[in-house]
Amino acid sequence: MTYKIELSSDEVPKQWYNMLADLPTELPAPINSEGKDQISALQLAFTKSALEQEFATDRYIKIPNEVRELYMEMGRPTPLVRANRLEEYLNTPAKIYFKREDTSPTGSHKLNSAIPQAYFAKKEGVERLTTETGAGQWGTALSLACNLLDLECTVYMVKVSFNQKPDRKNIMNIYNGNVYASPSENTKVGRDVMQNNPDHPGSLGVAISEAMEEALEYDEVKYSLGSVLNHVMLHQTIIGQELKTQLEIAEETPDVMIACAGGGSNFAGSLFPFIKDKITGNSETEFIAVEPTACPTLTQGTYDYDFGDSNGFTPMLKMFTLGHDFVAPSVHAGGLRYHGMSPIVSLLTKEGYINPKAVHQRDCFEAGITFARTEGILPAPETTHAIRATIDEALKCKETGEEKTIVMNFSGHGMLDLKGYTSYFEGTLENAK
Ligand SMILES: *Cc1c(COP(=O)(O)O)cnc(C)c1O
Repeated sequence: MTYKIELSSDEVPKQWYNMLADLPTELPAPINSEGKDQISALQLAFTKSALEQEFATDRYIKIPNEVRELYMEMGRPTPLVRANRLEEYLNTPAKIYFKREDTSPTGSHKLNSAIPQAYFAKKEGVERLTTETGAGQWGTALSLACNLLDLECTVYMVKVSFNQKPDRKNIMNIYNGNVYASPSENTKVGRDVMQNNPDHPGSLGVAISEAMEEALEYDEVKYSLGSVLNHVMLHQTIIGQELKTQLEIAEETPDVMIACAGGGSNFAGSLFPFIKDKITGNSETEFIAVEPTACPTLTQGTYDYDFGDSNGFTPMLKMFTLGHDFVAPSVHAGGLRYHGMSPIVSLLTKEGYINPKAVHQRDCFEAGITFARTEGILPAPETTHAIRATIDEALKCKETGEEKTIVMNFSGHGMLDLKGYTSYFEGTLENAK
């Protein structure tokens, strides 16, 4: 019986995999909207390295030794676990594996990109990074990464999450980050938004605008994004490369691979190295991206140019989008409440390599509880979306008798996101839309 497949520290990959090198069609470039010079805004706001990596076309990009060491010191490689008890509970002939990104000190995959972003910023002489955070995981990861690399960190946290999750702010403070509820009084964007609607719940789009406004204002401050952009997807491929080695050791060829998708980074990170094989005709694997019905970017959005933030500071990206002024209902999976999607994940969805699926919040928490009761790990609300889809696939196998191998990316734990579970048990959890 297989329980888990662990790698040794020296098996941490030495390179990131760049999906841009293998796309079936060319990725549409970011564009300026009329009269605005956003490309230069992008250049002012981001570090040089982030921009370089954003447009790099090399298939593999070397991970600096210092970054690789920090990956190891912060718990990589992460285990791949066989969900024996969940399989047994579901009485399915399917085999279920999950890759544990919750074992990171901050509880999710986000540190995989926070570390290199802070590292490159420090090397360029940056003093402070600003960023947005939805559920809090990205802000937590960047706060820690900045502290490890001796940088200051300012986090704009979407107001609804800020109020739902006071412990998150506390943790960011412990990691030496400064946290503000967004919309805030600190920026012009924040003040404008509040003037129009004093009860604005905040959104990732607004928080991004606030963080960017600060980076555009001060030379020594740069802006750092936790998902969506190509260089973030690149950093996260550390997950999928480890996963590939682990599945080889387990002698498994996945039939279905599943991850939740907010901006696309844990999906991209865990699955791009496998989607590469599908593009080159060497794989039959099905890839499922799971999102909430409350924020159905890939399943209901349009594939078009749109801004990454609500205020139009960013260039326009070609992606699936619900519109940059879309404000998702206040579902508990804060990390999945973004109006857009990684342009690469969008293109691969458009081209048919990824099957998107939307699931209801209550069904997700139900799946999350089943997972906690069988496998012992309490999943983040975002992660329960991947679990819901995994359980649905396993139940399909039960009907058909197929012994499929299902592999899921377990993006993070939910020990700090218990409110949704509380509402579930109280019966007050809304199935938004
Ligand atoms: C941020 C986050 C997500 C969603 O972001 P992606 O960029 O789509 O990965 C999902 N799960 C967890 C645990 C997160 O922290």
